[in-house]
Amino acid sequence: MSFTFTEELKKELAANANAIVSPGKGILAADESTGTMGKRLANINVENSEDNRRTYRQLLFTSGADMQNYISGVILFHETLYQKADDGTPFVKILQDQGIIPGIKVDKGVVPLAGTVGEGTTQGLDGLAERCAQYYKDGCRFAKWRCVLKIGPTTPSPLAILENANVLARYATICQANGLVPIVEPEILPDGDHDLERSQYVTEKVLSATYKALMDHNIYLEGTLLKPNMCTPGQSCTKRYTPQQIAEATVTALSRTVPAAVPGIVFLSGGQSEEDASVNLNAINQFQGKKPWKLTFSYGRALQASALKAWAGKGDQIKAGQAAFLGRAKANGLACEAKYTAGAGDSAASESLFVADHKY
Ligand code: 13P
Repeated sequence: MSFTFTEELKKELAANANAIVSPGKGILAADESTGTMGKRLANINVENSEDNRRTYRQLLFTSGADMQNYISGVILFHETLYQKADDGTPFVKILQDQGIIPGIKVDKGVVPLAGTVGEGTTQGLDGLAERCAQYYKDGCRFAKWRCVLKIGPTTPSPLAILENANVLARYATICQANGLVPIVEPEILPDGDHDLERSQYVTEKVLSATYKALMDHNIYLEGTLLKPNMCTPGQSCTKRYTPQQIAEATVTALSRTVPAAVPGIVFLSGGQSEEDASVNLNAINQFQGKKPWKLTFSYGRALQASALKAWAGKGDQIKAGQAAFLGRAKANGLACEAKYTAGAGDSAASESLFVADHKY
């Protein structure tokens, strides 16, 4: 059995990857697993039932005509991919009708790596080809797989770096063979007291190993996207840095490690407040340096925190939730064109969204 890319497949993958990072647009990550969604809903005293999860995702996907101006793709969880709006319209169709590309989370979560200091790898390769083929039939055009690395005195270890790079490459190859653009996500957690320089150093090591593996596995880079952390000081680092310093560290790390063939880099928000995530993305796009790729967002928490609060599970506050979501979507849409002026939201937008040892 052999697999080679046809010109047609390459064209399709590259076209979809480029569409996702079209100017002023980014991704809404709404692929929280059932357990993670339960924690978000618990914060607003809403029961974690299938219908409440559906109602909330409906709020997001029907937020209004403006959504398609800022959101190019939505990452869904398996359950959500097959849910419908109140009027019976499948969510997939609701997104497609707005020109928004449906995507799907395909990993099955983090498991421990034996012999390491609390490090892990991500599982989910078994049956992945069949699942990808089905998801493509059901309307998805891209996928996400999240790997997690930790910064500590002895981590990330060479084993964790190598194993996670390799599993991302195996995932990417399976996605591409089945027509899905792989979003490659080696997330380095913000947990710890490390400074910005260490975050940059570790990011460079992890990304260079990741691209070595992607090249070894013959991935078609033009049909991929990278979803990295920004380089930021650790959550409990006492030293403060400006958005300009964060931008310089981030763009420098990326320019040293991410091939120019990659069409776009879609950052995760990683526990930054909504406002910090927008301000830092804006600074990254303002930074004058070598940036051969689009630099945009694929935020979960930083696009949804204010919306969840404003909605609070109340039928008569759906519009308020939608307005809050669109406000953050617009802020980030502007930030990826370096046009965002700080202060889009109210004080809720500045609250930290950090979760220790974050699971998705
Ligand atoms: P956050 O933006 O909440 O970090 O999550 C994005 C994501 O999809 C992580 O896999």
